Amino acid sequence: MFYGQVEGTSFEIIDESFGETFVGHARVERLWTGARWSEGPVWFAAGRYLVWSDIPNNRQMRWDGTDGSVSVFREPSNNSNGNTIDAQGRMISCEHFSRRVTRTEFDGSITVIADKFDGKRLNSPNDVVVKSDGSIWFTDPDYGILGDYEGGRADSEIGACYVYRVDPDTAEVTAVATDFVKPNGLAFSADENHLFIADTGGSHIKNGPTHIRKVSVNSDGKTLGESKLFAECSNGLFDGFRLDTDGRIWSSAGDGVHCLNPDGELIGKIHIPELVSNVCFGEARLNRLFITGTTSLYSAYLDVRGVR
Ligand code: MG
Repeated sequence: MFYGQVEGTSFEIIDESFGETFVGHARVERLWTGARWSEGPVWFAAGRYLVWSDIPNNRQMRWDGTDGSVSVFREPSNNSNGNTIDAQGRMISCEHFSRRVTRTEFDGSITVIADKFDGKRLNSPNDVVVKSDGSIWFTDPDYGILGDYEGGRADSEIGACYVYRVDPDTAEVTAVATDFVKPNGLAFSADENHLFIADTGGSHIKNGPTHIRKVSVNSDGKTLGESKLFAECSNGLFDGFRLDTDGRIWSSAGDGVHCLNPDGELIGKIHIPELVSNVCFGEARLNRLFITGTTSLYSAYLDVRGVR
């Protein structure tokens, strides 16, 4: 399946080091269009398919890598947003409307992983990652309760937007970062010594944060330590992002995908003609970047591999 050059897409080299990350004649493909706000792509290698969220349409879509067909995977999805996969291959989802994080079990049943902190309902879990020890880390900004388009309008019970960790043994939910305005995308470094977290506070607050912070994971593996600014977004917001095995970050932004080197410097872009919300690596060698951009799902083969 090749869809040809999509208008408005291109690779932009800002630093020459970006040139080694993609194949010169590779193209950005638009795999499907017809969503309202695409988010949360997650790749299932065993089935060769990708699931993502269409938040306002209250559904999850599935792109089948064997024939390129797209179908509705789950509807209603409780306005799901970020999705990921755990080490066993089970899908973990953030749900705005039901204000919870869930796991889809092998038999298709759904287990609630977290819906409260300190006895109060979560705001609207946004994005989620699983650490190698099985712990589940997620962000909880209030986008899903600010209005009815992507969730259900409600007051925040917690009154703040935190980052949480769910213990794999006790299921206890602890707040691991409380100093973000609207914590959003997150991803561990390959060695799991750092957790990168985007803050999209600038979406609703003038001069609010539009950056990614690099936060040390303490030696206990459960708590976070020193936090420093990693990169400021030069166009729109860093929402969801992923790392490649060389430590680069591939992040959503206002004009497409921004590639940041391990020092946080913008080295290149994949221009996309729609606002991009998130990305994930897929295919057997994780050398294909899937990009959720507003109404559409895009992809590009790269000359890098995503962190597994
Ligand atoms: Mg997000």
